[in-house]
Amino acid sequence: MSYSDGTRVVHAGLPEAAVGDPFLPGPVFAAPYHLDPADGQTGDNGYGRPDNPTRRRLEGAIGELEGGRALTFASGQAAITALLLSTLRTGDTVALPSDGYFTVRSFAESTLRDLGVRTVLVPTAGPYPDFTGVRLVLLETPANPGLDVCDIAEVAATAHAAGALVAVDNTTATPLGQTPLALGADVVVASGTKALTGHSDVLLGYVAATDAELLGKIETWRKHTGAIPGAFDAWLAHRSIATLDLRLARQTGNAAAVAELLAGREDVSGVRWPGLPSDPSYAVASKQMRRIPGIVSFDLGDAQRVARFLTAASLVFAATSFGGVHTTADRRAQWGDDTSPGFVRLSCGIEDTVDLLADLTAALDQA
Ligand SMILES: *Cc1c(COP(=O)(O)O)cnc(C)c1O
Repeated sequence: MSYSDGTRVVHAGLPEAAVGDPFLPGPVFAAPYHLDPADGQTGDNGYGRPDNPTRRRLEGAIGELEGGRALTFASGQAAITALLLSTLRTGDTVALPSDGYFTVRSFAESTLRDLGVRTVLVPTAGPYPDFTGVRLVLLETPANPGLDVCDIAEVAATAHAAGALVAVDNTTATPLGQTPLALGADVVVASGTKALTGHSDVLLGYVAATDAELLGKIETWRKHTGAIPGAFDAWLAHRSIATLDLRLARQTGNAAAVAELLAGREDVSGVRWPGLPSDPSYAVASKQMRRIPGIVSFDLGDAQRVARFLTAASLVFAATSFGGVHTTADRRAQWGDDTSPGFVRLSCGIEDTVDLLADLTAALDQA
């Protein structure tokens, strides 16, 4: 039986129904667990770093949605660096998006460089180089914050032909937006901090794949380095995933309305939303994605105008991060990101569309 998204997220990772038990059992807080005193056998759980039933249930849920097996981490960066450090060796080359999540590039330019791993930067929109000699290709689509999109199946085929492993950062899309493993990627990495959990109250990351050997390597890495999410965060994340379909539906609807509003204003430039038919990402996004995320980017010209806009808005919280139930906006250049000073990434929340449009219009008029 194949269910639709709303049903899948409500039931993802839940245990079999049992009389008297909760639907989603609460968090299990344990460092060590009781061992069998006679022979020291652990059963399913021996020690909290490798073993936690709350975390395993969350991993079951994410694995179901991504179409693989998932391992969760303390943050998106913990997941991404686990993939990079468990697959790359001195002398290897990694291809990273030049317009993707900034911290991944800065990790490559510091830690990976010091380890003797070479990085080539490729813009998400292409053109893509010949990947001969590249060990790992990491794609990020839609790319954060510029929202360019690449054709995962096409790039994966080229990269595989050159013998490279293909990873996709699925943070912005979420597994309801696209399933990279089904499109030909070997591994998915993501931050669950954003739309996946969506309440701006938990940091989470995950890796998902179908290759048991690759997953085993990454799981050993996690066991050795300890970058696990705590039981309460894992439970909070699992609880939040139940509403993913509803949240994304409203966020996408809000983004469609906001993109249209912004595109129609003469005092706003560079409006990007991959769901706008005029957007450069529209064709590939429509082919590859099942839904377009609630993020719209645009330019207000300079930092002062962005500050006036954010001060005037009541329903737009100034905040880094995105994908939450509250509408937020971030001027990325303030973090040293190589975007222009007036560039804004607006993340639509789940407020009523009419209220959001009125607030944005008033704030832009004032700014
Ligand atoms: C936020 C983000 C990350 C990092 O995730 P954290 O949970 O903050 O560590 C990685 N990739 C993308 C695309 C992100 O947006």
